[in-house]
Amino acid sequence: MVGNGDEWRLDTRAVRAGQVRSSEMEQSEPIFATSSFVFANAAQAAARFSGQEPGNIYSRFTNPTVRVFEERLAAMEGGERCVGTASGMGAILSTCLALLKHGDHIVSSRAIFGTTVGLFNNLLSKFGVLTSFVPLADYAAWEAAIRPETRILFLETPSNPLTDIADIERLAGIAHRHGTLLVVDNCFCTPALQLPLSLGADLIIHSGTKYLDGQGRCVGGAIIGTKAVVGEAVFNCLRSGGASMSPFNAWVFLKGLETLGLRMRAHCEHAMKVAAHLERHPRVSRVYYAGLSSHPQHALARRQQRGFGGIVSFDVPGGREEAWRVIDRVRIFSITANLGDAKSTITHPATTTHGRLSVEERAEAGIGESLIRLSVGLEDPDDLCRDLDRALDAA
Ligand SMILES: *Cc1c(COP(=O)(O)O)cnc(C)c1O
Repeated sequence: MVGNGDEWRLDTRAVRAGQVRSSEMEQSEPIFATSSFVFANAAQAAARFSGQEPGNIYSRFTNPTVRVFEERLAAMEGGERCVGTASGMGAILSTCLALLKHGDHIVSSRAIFGTTVGLFNNLLSKFGVLTSFVPLADYAAWEAAIRPETRILFLETPSNPLTDIADIERLAGIAHRHGTLLVVDNCFCTPALQLPLSLGADLIIHSGTKYLDGQGRCVGGAIIGTKAVVGEAVFNCLRSGGASMSPFNAWVFLKGLETLGLRMRAHCEHAMKVAAHLERHPRVSRVYYAGLSSHPQHALARRQQRGFGGIVSFDVPGGREEAWRVIDRVRIFSITANLGDAKSTITHPATTTHGRLSVEERAEAGIGESLIRLSVGLEDPDDLCRDLDRALDAA
């Protein structure tokens, strides 16, 4: 490890934490494209496999490039340990497999990534793990949904796509009073804007696919928490479960972390401009962005986050038809479900990312047919506003 990471601020950790130079003295971190590692002798092989001697064995669970990514992200989130995973969903699945057993129960925010709802409802339920869903910011509902067998409270804040905000500290208090763990999917804010562990959360989930990469190249994920939970339980689950991060993807993500602070500041600034612009547009009926003073949880977002993020959603008055017309008329925004990219993206959540929810589930989550979600990228925000104006006026 280069230097002493403990006293470093976030941007220094993002660039420097976790790097171990090889004897080649490379400046940029190398990609260890190897599936396995060689031992000096049979005794060393035995010591490595038994865990007596730390070190590399096999890249499903020990790879130096993946380790640099893990140590850097752990340092940024202020966690003891991080493990990288093949995807954000791999991170959530590995966490659940590691911590839950038949009969256990999850309380989850209703306003989470659509595939996570599917994982809880359709997959974990097959193994006898049931999930209750509650409105993100209804603290009495969280408390009321907790049962003796509840092990995990799970949320995203800000939520996707409506940018609702939950008070992490308050939910951590509820979780710990009932002996459960608070798991926060920190994908939308990243450690550049929000540090859930410092607010009392126990585990952080990331989809590296989004802002950690930041240029839409790789799928990956991560889990951050204590040595006991992440370093033992989750790590061992991943070792057997196999949803591991590839060294190449780890390299893309760890280089992405070096520019994360800069990029997030720009995403926030651009999203603020776009949100304020949309709020003034006569063909927009409502804008969802925590940076706007009209947002119901603006004050909480100010207190809890260092910025309001890059996701802006809005309603148009004319339902699905008008929403689709706007989406089809923008020229700069890409029509794609990914977010957190340098390239701005636009989607219709009701028929894409949240299309597999039932009509009732979507209605409960507040995701209507007239809703459009933007991930505001790094293009000039004035160009983005003009592009949206042209599409809104033509639709
Ligand atoms: C995309 C996303 C995920 C899933 O991540 P993948 O890398 O696509 O598997 C989980 N949570 C949130 C909030 C996401 O946006």
